Amino acid sequence: MTGKVWLVGAGPGDPGLITVKGLHCIRNADVLVYDRLVCRELLAEVPAGCERINVGKTPNNHPIPQEEINQILVTHAQRGRNVVRLKGGDPYVFGRGGEEVETLARAGVEFEVIPGISSSIGGLAYAGIPVTHRDHASSFHVVTGHLQQGKEPQDWEHLARLQGTLVILMGMSQLEHICGELMRHGRRSDTPAAAVMYASHRVQRIAAATLATLADEVEHQQIKAPALIVIGEVVQLHTLLQFVPTAFTLDEMAPVVTEPLAALA
Ligand code: SAH
Repeated sequence: MTGKVWLVGAGPGDPGLITVKGLHCIRNADVLVYDRLVCRELLAEVPAGCERINVGKTPNNHPIPQEEINQILVTHAQRGRNVVRLKGGDPYVFGRGGEEVETLARAGVEFEVIPGISSSIGGLAYAGIPVTHRDHASSFHVVTGHLQQGKEPQDWEHLARLQGTLVILMGMSQLEHICGELMRHGRRSDTPAAAVMYASHRVQRIAAATLATLADEVEHQQIKAPALIVIGEVVQLHTLLQFVPTAFTLDEMAPVVTEPLAALA
């Protein structure tokens, strides 16, 4: 009997931001395959005997090639196990979740996708930044700043013309260049801009400035990856809209039920 793979979004960091369905899958997993950005509290929810496999990548350092991760999922499912593939944020937002599920589909392995709260939206909310606002932004655009084999990942000229909120993931190593390109192509240098490090984690930090000064401010405040870069008028709301998140434990919010639950698959 083959098992099944559950591709689960862990949310941006605060463990309580996982979905009820995602948590239920973790609590019933035979194998948990997880990334670097997934928090310890969620990893601790696996049942006794669950095998945990860390396939985390660090920037510019890919310890486990993607093909190998895909193969790990297929192999364990074919051994009849319930595999949870846990990814930071939403699994289909720059998480290579699409590639993993493609492999499963082609191999005939049963799968299910449980979406998560992406850091690009929920992470910014925790920093007091709404991605849209009636008075300030009627659209938002989420892009990667990561260079692919040294090539520009985006058409910055095109993005500079958009008036909505621009959210850049994986862009910290290119921050100065990105801000420069946006200004060169006409985005105003006094546009509010910020970098949010470890959004929604307990150690969250934000550097807020303008397009012209963000790179210096980030350097000054030692803001590093993983961080979100956000550019647009909504950033100016961040001090007014900031809040202290309640630190409920997972068990307070979603107690473990000791009665046998219906089988997952
Ligand atoms: N699937 C994830 C994104 C994966 S790409 C999601 O939906 O959120 C990884 C990049 O996301 C990081 O380089 C960083 O830019 C951003 N990121 C993810 N979680 C973050 C967090 N808690 N705080 C700040 N940036 C984060």
